[in-house]
Amino acid sequence: MPHPEIEQNVQELIIPVEDLPEQESQNFEGKLGLSQCPRLLELAEDSEFELEYQFSLKRDSRKVLIDGEFKGQFKLNCDRCLGTVAYQPEESFSIRLQPSEDRPRPAEETLLTLEELEWDVYDQSSLNLAELIEEQVLISIPEKKLCSTSCKGLCQRCGVNLNTQSCLCNEEIEDHPFAVLKGIGSEFENFQK
Ligand SMILES: [Zn+2]
Ligand SMILES: [Zn+2]
Repeated sequence: MPHPEIEQNVQELIIPVEDLPEQESQNFEGKLGLSQCPRLLELAEDSEFELEYQFSLKRDSRKVLIDGEFKGQFKLNCDRCLGTVAYQPEESFSIRLQPSEDRPRPAEETLLTLEELEWDVYDQSSLNLAELIEEQVLISIPEKKLCSTSCKGLCQRCGVNLNTQSCLCNEEIEDHPFAVLKGIGSEFENFQK
């Protein structure tokens, strides 16, 4: 059974733009569960997932301005050894939205100022704020997720975790006939210098 309070939370985070009072800031705060973040679900582990947010939202005619921050902790997998990486983001964000039909046509785009280029678009009559927050969290995740900068990863041949175990694969590679050729190659490089 889903928690009733979380369900209610999701409802509150889908807002028809027209329902927002004009030029009047509204504050939101709450927590998101991993089940509300389908794209994060593919990256993060379910246990001990925490994500809190708070932001203010203001409508200016058809434009929407959102400023806030999020804070969380959850576990990701190391890109090299697949071990656990504890991730504790704490970031502020600001999102500028305008309806997609108000966006200038490509021909006009060369005339856009830098500030105008920062606008994102929304193409539905309702904003899904949970999705927007999830997007910010995804952006914050580093491209390379490592348990440690010195992580040795998994052996590409036998798959053991080289941080905790060693294997003989590398030695076997040295014995391989091609290893000799590799040796000649490096001597040749030295010779050239
Ligand atoms: Zn690792
Ligand atoms: Zn190995």
